[in-house]
Amino acid sequence: MVEEQLIPHGIKDQRVINTFYKVERHRFIPQELRNIAYADFPVSIGEGQTISQPFMVALMTESLQLKGDEKVLEIGTGSGYQAAILAELAKEVFSIERFEVLAKRAEAVLKELGYKNIKIKVGDGTLGWPEEAPFDRIIITAASPQVPLPLIEQLKESGILILPLGGDLGQVLTAVEKKKNKLKYTEICSCIFVPLIGKYGYKNA
Ligand code: SAM
Repeated sequence: MVEEQLIPHGIKDQRVINTFYKVERHRFIPQELRNIAYADFPVSIGEGQTISQPFMVALMTESLQLKGDEKVLEIGTGSGYQAAILAELAKEVFSIERFEVLAKRAEAVLKELGYKNIKIKVGDGTLGWPEEAPFDRIIITAASPQVPLPLIEQLKESGILILPLGGDLGQVLTAVEKKKNKLKYTEICSCIFVPLIGKYGYKNA
């Protein structure tokens, strides 16, 4: 996966690469689909949701420019794989999932693997996690029509937020930097994600 998908497609950050060697992706995938755990596409995790393609997880992670001391908020826990990757590269990870069944499963795997710096809660991630704000980095792993306002407020000055921005037919992976209370948008590449459903996302599944 690392040598055939990540490095040839431009992932360069050695800390990110090392983490993808270390974290066992198959542990986050339903038993019956583990034979395709390392394939170059998203895999179903139940509830109509997916674990993103390995390259997309790596690209989003690399775009966060983590050094090791950050407090990170993830919206869309899904399988818990991205949270595990983030927990290897940052200080603390807070992750929100709207489906309780997915949140509980992710929590169980992450506990089994020994992660102590990840907290998961069930709810509408578009509202953020005000009690834990502000965050150095925010990653939204579902397609959003705009940057949810509460998340802009909960991002630290000079913080980076990554999200797939756009409609249900396709989005643009975008990095948003907060500088002097202004937002700078940088487009990274086109992508396709499941929708972000919530007060500041899409209204219906
Ligand atoms: N990061 C995940 C992983 O590593 O497996 C993959 C995430 S999947 C592409 C998107 C996730 O976002 C789904 O699990 C979906 O239920 C969740 N989601 C959608 N809208 C949400 C919201 N408003 N709050 C929290 N989670 C949401």
